[in-house]
Amino acid sequence: MDAFLNACRETIGADYVLTQDADVLGFVVDWRQRFQGKALAVLKPGSTEEVAALVRLCMQFNVAIVPQGGNTGLVLGSVPDSSGKAVVLSLKRLNRIRHVDPVNNTMTVEAGCILADVQAAAAQAQRLYPLSLASEGSCTVGGNLSTNAGGTAVLRYGNARELCLGLEVVTAGAETWDGLRGLRKDNTGYDLRDLFIGAEGTLGIITATVLKLFPQPKAQLTALAALQTPDAALQMLSLAQAHCGASLTAFELMSDFSLQLVGTHFPQMQLPFASRHPQYVLLELSDSESEQHASAMLESLVAEALDKDLIQDAVVATSLAQSRALWNLREHISMAQAAEGKNIKHDISIPISDIGHFISATDLLLQQGFPGCRMVTFGHLGDGNLHYNVSPPAHMPDTEFIEQQEAVNLVVHDSVHRFGGSISAEHGLGALKREELLRYKSPVEMTLMRSIKVALDPQQLMNPGKLL
Ligand code: FAD
Repeated sequence: MDAFLNACRETIGADYVLTQDADVLGFVVDWRQRFQGKALAVLKPGSTEEVAALVRLCMQFNVAIVPQGGNTGLVLGSVPDSSGKAVVLSLKRLNRIRHVDPVNNTMTVEAGCILADVQAAAAQAQRLYPLSLASEGSCTVGGNLSTNAGGTAVLRYGNARELCLGLEVVTAGAETWDGLRGLRKDNTGYDLRDLFIGAEGTLGIITATVLKLFPQPKAQLTALAALQTPDAALQMLSLAQAHCGASLTAFELMSDFSLQLVGTHFPQMQLPFASRHPQYVLLELSDSESEQHASAMLESLVAEALDKDLIQDAVVATSLAQSRALWNLREHISMAQAAEGKNIKHDISIPISDIGHFISATDLLLQQGFPGCRMVTFGHLGDGNLHYNVSPPAHMPDTEFIEQQEAVNLVVHDSVHRFGGSISAEHGLGALKREELLRYKSPVEMTLMRSIKVALDPQQLMNPGKLL
């Protein structure tokens, strides 16, 4: 492979072809540090032309490519397998904001731009790019599109797919497709853009994109409400939508046990209530009129919910710091769970109306099969997306519990399937859930997906072993 590596060095410069273990390590270990792969090299092109030239070399030498953005993916999609035969192609140097158009409400950015930088560039133009994830300081726009990321504002603005108008892609045949159109209407045949979004790097490499922008809200208010059951939370969601309409931008559910873990591992973060309640919802309103208008809406919502006994207590953040403190509770659940020990995670979606029923039915099945297991249930209730995580019984070593992962997954995912849900709501499939796909997708869907893969990547070079 020396000839291949030398050709890569000639193409992008020797400094951007990493082969030493110490340099490569950060690119071959996944975010949760569960898996360490091996790479022939890490390639760091600086432009779309360089990406295309590298893909051409990979075709010539038959080298598989693992595209990588911020490597924050949670399903082992962005790291290579342990064969050492694939290269990691890092998009991080493609990080230019090419153009902001406040009249068309679009911005054209390169795939390696960090999400937080894109949000900041939009804000500088008095616009909002609403995609928001806890990993936004590290994840990239290309990774967001390739995983069709969700996050906390999907309820109002949609997921990454709905926030994208155009793409530039280097295909598996090393051609560059310039689809950087900022059009909201374009019915000229098959939607190629939608094929590459959510493809997890298995069809081509996204090098740039046109993103949708929105007016900045005049006011944003956050509230936390305490309630008894997920069903009460669903009724609260309907009431909030009736009161606030499109101003309701986030609606997150958190079980008491999830927040107890946060309090245990991050003692500086405490719940703002005198007593504990079984469930909590975190709501955010983004108002286009004024702070007073938003406050009035929120106050009347909380008053009616208390009156109807849907909620037992509520706090409304009156400053940015208080709002941040409430969001911090939500955003620290995963870290608190990690500090508690290993656990089995599920990122699932269910039709919203069935969520309460799903939780009670599946909790019961898990207690029957794995007595004493502790449920860490939280997530984007407004989108029907739960992070339905299972921690070991209090006195069981986590390594012993993790041995039962396949059996736990089977109970949860079969239940999801019975409820007409999806085993991956927003994280994708990667190498982690690839096998399980076969159990839940119909043969017709699998055949269509395989035909697309073969048509677009006949040499099977793009992220092999992921998704399909
Ligand atoms: P990577 O991890 O580098 O790659 C992800 C996948 O995309 C891989 O298959 C990779 O091959 C492919 N890929 C990356 N860039 C390209 C490209 N330019 N062209 C083609 N393929 C490419 N996800 C959510 O959806 N919602 C959340 O709320 C959320 N919260 C998170 C919180 C934390 C703390 C962490 C660590 C992760 C979270 N994630 C969440 C998961 C993750 O951040 C997202 O999946 C994110 O979109 C991945 O972006 P990335 O740049 O890190 O991509």
